[in-house]
Amino acid sequence: MAKTRKSPIDMNREEFQKVGYQLIDDISNFIHSIDQKPVTPNESPSTLQAILGHSSLPENGKPAKELISRTTDLLFNHSLLNGHPKFLGYITSSAAPIGALADLLAASVNPNVGAHILSPIATEIEKQTVKWLCEFIGVSSNYGGLLVSGGNMANFTAFLAARTAKSPKNIKEDGIQNATNQLTVYCSKTTHTWIEKAVILFGLGTKSIRWIATDASNKMDTQLLETTIKEDLKNNYTPLMVVGTAGDVSTGVVDNLNELSAICKKYDLWFHIDGAYGAPAAIVPKYKHLFEGIKEADSIALDPHKWLYSPLEAGCTLVKNPQHLIDTYSSHPEYYNFSNTDGEMAQNFYEYGLQNSRGFRALKVWLSLQQVGRSGYEALITEDIELSKMLFDLAQKHNELEAVSQNLSITTLRYVPIDHDTDNDYLNTLNESILNELQTGGEVFLSNAIVKEQYCLRACIVNFRTSEKDIEEIIGIITSVGTKLHKKLSAVTKDTETE
Ligand SMILES: *Cc1c(COP(=O)(O)O)cnc(C)c1O
Repeated sequence: MAKTRKSPIDMNREEFQKVGYQLIDDISNFIHSIDQKPVTPNESPSTLQAILGHSSLPENGKPAKELISRTTDLLFNHSLLNGHPKFLGYITSSAAPIGALADLLAASVNPNVGAHILSPIATEIEKQTVKWLCEFIGVSSNYGGLLVSGGNMANFTAFLAARTAKSPKNIKEDGIQNATNQLTVYCSKTTHTWIEKAVILFGLGTKSIRWIATDASNKMDTQLLETTIKEDLKNNYTPLMVVGTAGDVSTGVVDNLNELSAICKKYDLWFHIDGAYGAPAAIVPKYKHLFEGIKEADSIALDPHKWLYSPLEAGCTLVKNPQHLIDTYSSHPEYYNFSNTDGEMAQNFYEYGLQNSRGFRALKVWLSLQQVGRSGYEALITEDIELSKMLFDLAQKHNELEAVSQNLSITTLRYVPIDHDTDNDYLNTLNESILNELQTGGEVFLSNAIVKEQYCLRACIVNFRTSEKDIEEIIGIITSVGTKLHKKLSAVTKDTETE
């Protein structure tokens, strides 16, 4: 080996600059013409595999310039573009451009935000981000927490803290098998699938979930909740926690958080709120009342990579008394020398959650909170909601569309042909085929929801690029696809009827 080392993985200054500047130029062009591209290229796995080629692990290296250039082409031309103004599917936002720069910067310095000593400024930035997120959603900044990969992890992180805090036995030491009575958790039927993964992961089992039915407005039926808890207590179960939803994933409904909180207090249960999607709307004075009771939560999950427009991945867990996180996750192995800095207590994030080595996710959130500010976010979120309402109104006025629901920034609607005699099965089939066509056609990307047995098209607007013009055009696209498919489907139905 030579005295000075030449690593094949390093890039010299000129090379890094050249490749980097080119990449930034290309990204800039991509972002600023994103509306000209199809939302999705709709290519099959085998087409994509053929483009990648089937070669085995490269024996020798290639220049970074060539690789980055080919890869930008691959990504720009063969991706679904959730930054497109007509991408309104699921709950994935357009990513803030400053978030892309933040990720580049974070990866370049590469702090390990598991321990303060390894990430001094990054740890303090993450702490400030957590504090600002508390202010954002209107809870006390005495809540503590951390950034995680997304809503699932944010909910898991809180779930385990709840289990540690509220189970009568010391599960942490004795294991779940000695928890005498079966622990039970309560959530509405509309709760996201994370709850199933959580009870599997943390040993309660799926039978521990009490799926509480919703009332006419699709909120958890709190009377039924209380009866179920009483019943369980009578039968020797051990109720652990209630999960309220602040913006359900299908239709955006927020549970009655005040009532849930009162029930939790009465029965000494942990009150968790899944606000992965909806919690940021609490920043808008006009919608604040929906979130009344959020201040009472023992823990809250929210997802900056949804309505704060952070690039994937960024979720966040907030806990009213952060000591519960430390009680759950902290341990002090002999190989960590992370104790004090000058007599001040330093916060080590590995003690707050499941991860050990941690990336600097907070940076992109911290930067966009400052770029946009409280007032900017209030405006952005309000506009998303206004656009969602506009979509609902246009659908309501249109003689071939039926507006079904509108909450926060989620609208559900369906196509109903004029000449139709309202056979729900036919409408379900028709709307499902409309959705399939929309998801592959590249003009607009919607998802689906089943509302009261009706198969609906669902638009969730967490997209700062969507405009009124897009909404008007989307109405046109849905109806023209609907007309075409109805013609085709009803002809097939008639054929089979006459056979
Ligand atoms: C999106 C969502 C989740 C899951 O979050 P991920 O970031 O996809 O892990 C959980 N709950 C609700 C209400 C959501 O909207």
